[in-house]
Amino acid sequence: MSELDFKARELDAGDQLAGLRSQFLLDDVVYLDGNSLGALPASVPGRVEDVVRRQWGELRIRSWDESGWWTAPERIGDLIAPLVGAAAGQIVVGDSTSVNVFKALVAAVRMAGPGRDEIVVDATTFPTDGYIAESAARMTGCTLRPVTPAEVPGVLGERTAAVLLNHVDYRSGRLHDLPGLTAAVHAVGAYVVWDLCHSAGAMPVGLDEHGVDLAVGCTYKYLNGGPGSPAYLYVRSGLQDRFDSPLPGWNSHVEPFGMRPDFEAAPGALRGRVGTPDILSMLALEAALEVWDGVSIEAVRAKSLALTDFFLECVSAYVDEGRVECVTPLAHAERGSQVALRCDDAGDVMKRLIERGVVGDFRHPDVLRFGFTPLYVGFRDVERAARVLGEVVA
Ligand SMILES: *Cc1c(COP(=O)(O)O)cnc(C)c1O
Repeated sequence: MSELDFKARELDAGDQLAGLRSQFLLDDVVYLDGNSLGALPASVPGRVEDVVRRQWGELRIRSWDESGWWTAPERIGDLIAPLVGAAAGQIVVGDSTSVNVFKALVAAVRMAGPGRDEIVVDATTFPTDGYIAESAARMTGCTLRPVTPAEVPGVLGERTAAVLLNHVDYRSGRLHDLPGLTAAVHAVGAYVVWDLCHSAGAMPVGLDEHGVDLAVGCTYKYLNGGPGSPAYLYVRSGLQDRFDSPLPGWNSHVEPFGMRPDFEAAPGALRGRVGTPDILSMLALEAALEVWDGVSIEAVRAKSLALTDFFLECVSAYVDEGRVECVTPLAHAERGSQVALRCDDAGDVMKRLIERGVVGDFRHPDVLRFGFTPLYVGFRDVERAARVLGEVVA
């Protein structure tokens, strides 16, 4: 047994979250792509079967009420809330992240009011956020200022209306300074929208603690909600009365069944709803969230850092020096739950890794991306992944 293999066994033995792996349906592959699509929690298939056969098949229309379908968006929002440091009543689930970015950004500009006509956006963001921000700017008569996150504080001013930022960069895995950037945006009187796609479920976010205005995120990455599971929207309680959605639908109406011709927004986070919720996906997500019962997000973060530290240690031991270059920051304060390695033939390398049972992903043009989901990835998985990588690139 190699020294690193021995260390992996020791780390697994001391891992307090190790028991959670049995709550997922996983085969023998090392699955390091949970930052793209989380693995399947064992509770989901049975729940989906029940929702389809009994709730839909037998109760039919009665389920909107008797099976809690109508209130699912806010009920499931309250299940996500503790994972992102939010008190209840501030999150609704529904629509995709892209759609929620649109709602949040336009609503933020409307809150900012006249005289503020600039939207600042992370230029390195996941493309959809940039596309939506460009359209939101055009619709609201704002100028879009795409800058790197490091440049954000320097471009803020009295004309800034809203700032859209990523907590963790999807490509490099860099963790941005949410408390510091939020405070900088507030110091000029503007509003901030955080995209939590690559942080929620992997680390504490502290939305309430840091006074974040609006936030969005998906649920199919570290929250394991399944392909296309609905996203969520957080609106800080103090701003809810002023949240003027650009997509007011009958589900965000104060009296949805009043069928009134005029729109009057519902109180609270419900204003973030739009139309009929996607019940099948939403209730699969609700079942998936059961794995979080009694799990501390601080413990998840501690394990995540231990996993990525150990992966980097194994990569330096097993991979010939200079063959790959780490683009994820080494400082814990700047690292999300993934490691991104640059190498010229990354596409080909990832193909061969997957053939050998190590599943990460490739991001154009030259990045190998490995995501570490602390709920089901162990230290022996990490050692194996790095060892196979070393063999593949040798
Ligand atoms: C995954 C991801 C999305 C996904 O958006 P969808 O509308 O759910 O497809 C958006 N933004 C970021 C930063 C992401 O990482």
